[in-house]
Amino acid sequence: MTSLIKPSSVVDTRGRPVRDLRLSVTDRCNFRCRYCMPAEIFNREYVFLQRDLLLTFEEMVFLSRAFERFGVQKIRLTGGEPLLRRGIERLISMLTDATDCEVTLTTNGSLLARKAEGLAAAGLSRVTVSLDSLDEDTFQAMNDVGFPVSAVLDGIEVASAAGLPVKVNAVVKRGVNDQDAVDMAAYFRGTGHILRFIEYMDVGASNGWRMDDVVPAQELIEAINGRFPIEPVAPNYRGEVARRWRYVDGGGEVGFIASVTQPFCGTCTRARVSAEGVLYTCLFAVGGTDLRRMLRSGAGEEEVVDALRQVWEVRDDRYSEIRSLDTVDLQKVEMSYIGG
Ligand code: SAM
Ligand code: SF4
Ligand code: SF4
Repeated sequence: MTSLIKPSSVVDTRGRPVRDLRLSVTDRCNFRCRYCMPAEIFNREYVFLQRDLLLTFEEMVFLSRAFERFGVQKIRLTGGEPLLRRGIERLISMLTDATDCEVTLTTNGSLLARKAEGLAAAGLSRVTVSLDSLDEDTFQAMNDVGFPVSAVLDGIEVASAAGLPVKVNAVVKRGVNDQDAVDMAAYFRGTGHILRFIEYMDVGASNGWRMDDVVPAQELIEAINGRFPIEPVAPNYRGEVARRWRYVDGGGEVGFIASVTQPFCGTCTRARVSAEGVLYTCLFAVGGTDLRRMLRSGAGEEEVVDALRQVWEVRDDRYSEIRSLDTVDLQKVEMSYIGG
């Protein structure tokens, strides 16, 4: 459905428009990936958001329509684990009915086999599944809840059979799963599911990130090229975060998201809204704007649109370009909360 009011564009102080909205639908997760929600911090005592603090589906749709007026074309549902949010299929239908945006989702895949058909029927465009290793011990140690590789692979196959294009994201941490990268490339090439390697990032303030743990994308490119020759491909669009490569023998594509060693802040068009409705203009933000309060105090669409414009116009973020030993220790918002 097209908004009644004509879209206006807004750019930030670095000339960047807003194109992608990442909506976190929950801060909870059934995994405890060491790089995201380490179990010693996200334990029984950890206080997650109470239900009444979460944005309702209606509030998410309201915000999405407001963002669409500025040029948002893609909405990604994330979290936490988005498939834990009850009724997510209904949210997807509501978003596809109320906007012209493409609606996508990032998931750890644990519930995908069960849910993929309903997600596809609700109008989801495609799905990104996070899977860091095909080695059982390594994967279970990384998700830290003993979740098996095979169940994620089943989810990928069911999603694909349901007609959802699938991308697979693997975060690579030195000495943990870097030795599995070429095997993952071997497994996914030729399947049509594009595998993308992500450099381990210093998101949040709890994962104990060190630069030494980052495996530069270039290193992985060389390792994969050594086994299956690859060549670079031009980006699909300006601002695409993954650098695209293809197998010379026609085995399809593989991507590299070099957020640490080759930052892409210059073309960053992403806005994030946490599950409780706080707007962040950078993944590494230390603060945001409370939209839920506005919505619940009766603000109308014009007021919300004005607030969004004001936030975006002064946006100056470029954390990955200025990352240093000093910035690593900032009290940044956790990724499971802000939405990956
Ligand atoms: N739970 C879902 C999942 O894992 O796909 C969605 C949320 S998760 C925060 C989104 C993405 O962020 C995942 O692909 C995950 O691997 C990635 N991620 C989490 N922590 C990260 C880190 N420290 N560095 C790089 N990527 C990270
Ligand atoms: Fe959960 Fe995703 Fe974070 Fe892993 S990366 S702990 S699956 S939110
Ligand atoms: Fe965008 Fe912030 Fe990441 Fe830079 S560091 S690409 S501004 S989210």
